[in-house]
Amino acid sequence: MVPLFDLREQHEALGEELNAAFQRVFTSGRYILGGEVEAFEQSMADYLGVRHAIGVSSGTDALLLALMALDIGPGDEVLCPAFTFFATAGSVARLGATPVWVDVCPVCYNIDVQAAEAKVRPQTKAIMPVHLFGQAADMDSVQTLADRYNLAVVEDAAQAVGAKYRGKAVGGIGDFGALSFFPTKNLGAFGDAGMLLTNEDVLVVKARQLRVHGMEPKYFHAMVGGNFRIDSLQAALLAAKLPHLDTYTAKRRENADYYTDTLRQHPRIAVAKPEDCCCPIAQPSHPVEGEAAIILPVAYPHNEHVWNQYTIRVRGKGQRQALRDFLADRKVGAEIYYPLSLDKQACFKDTSKGNFGLDTSHILADEVLSIPIFPELGEARRTEVAEAILAFLG
Ligand SMILES: *Cc1c(COP(=O)(O)O)cnc(C)c1O
Repeated sequence: MVPLFDLREQHEALGEELNAAFQRVFTSGRYILGGEVEAFEQSMADYLGVRHAIGVSSGTDALLLALMALDIGPGDEVLCPAFTFFATAGSVARLGATPVWVDVCPVCYNIDVQAAEAKVRPQTKAIMPVHLFGQAADMDSVQTLADRYNLAVVEDAAQAVGAKYRGKAVGGIGDFGALSFFPTKNLGAFGDAGMLLTNEDVLVVKARQLRVHGMEPKYFHAMVGGNFRIDSLQAALLAAKLPHLDTYTAKRRENADYYTDTLRQHPRIAVAKPEDCCCPIAQPSHPVEGEAAIILPVAYPHNEHVWNQYTIRVRGKGQRQALRDFLADRKVGAEIYYPLSLDKQACFKDTSKGNFGLDTSHILADEVLSIPIFPELGEARRTEVAEAILAFLG
């Protein structure tokens, strides 16, 4: 039996540190914002090399807050990948702005910036690259596009805390970056929590104010914000876990390397080819691999991938479901992130734009399957996962 994810071992090993953090908050009498939050914000800013870190209530709220601080609203269009978690585009729609779908790359799974350029219009105000599954999007191309059309850049780094693009921490490259501390993310809280990152001294003041209903000074409101505050307890617990994040990431990477090295030996399994990626390290063509039944994800040398997910593509009609059932029979956890691209979601039927040229997003929604990669997985369990996949192919 291998669960897709299990946090208990990680937290049991940190029992003392976590209990000490709890006791500090318990005796402080302060439960929202305050010193614990400020200390955690500073630690995160230092860890990532970003000027400002603002603790917030969730990754979703970090995205919403970023767009609010940029004055995105009705009439505005925002470029979003069609293949991502809902919150990326949900935050745009909640402000009355329009998500415009952009296709993604079949190799790195991230926004295809060339495809994005074709969808820029005078109403386009921002682009939201998502560092999906823990690998950075092609930020140089994103920045070039943003500069050319005067777009704001809001990075959805919810799955990619600590990931790097050409040596820079993701989330700290665009105007704003959003992190999530949802328990299954690489740095997981004990409930909902998130963080907004920025290097801009003017935007940070506005974002901090919007975090507390746009209030400044107390009970005076020049702007309409929201309650996007983080709990002191979450900040204290996250601060206790932060010193271990690099170790967790290294173990995720070890698991990913093991899967890739082991599975690629099978004649019907191939590693995705970087030369087929949308990123300019190669030609932007999108040919599908020859006869491979399963395509493994690839980490680029210019990125530091943090492997929030190890997501394979299972090709051939019905094959993904067959593998999923096969793994379920052997009690091996697997999950589909994500089964329906955002352009096909019922809630966006009448309100989104860019419903063309999304072939790769549709293919990925049919083919992707994520397998266990959590840091505590260990050798015996990852071997069991790999053997199950190999047994499926026979
Ligand atoms: C998890 C996630 C979010 C939202 O974060 P929450 O903390 O759950 O609100 C946003 N975008 C992506 C890509 C995510 O994976």
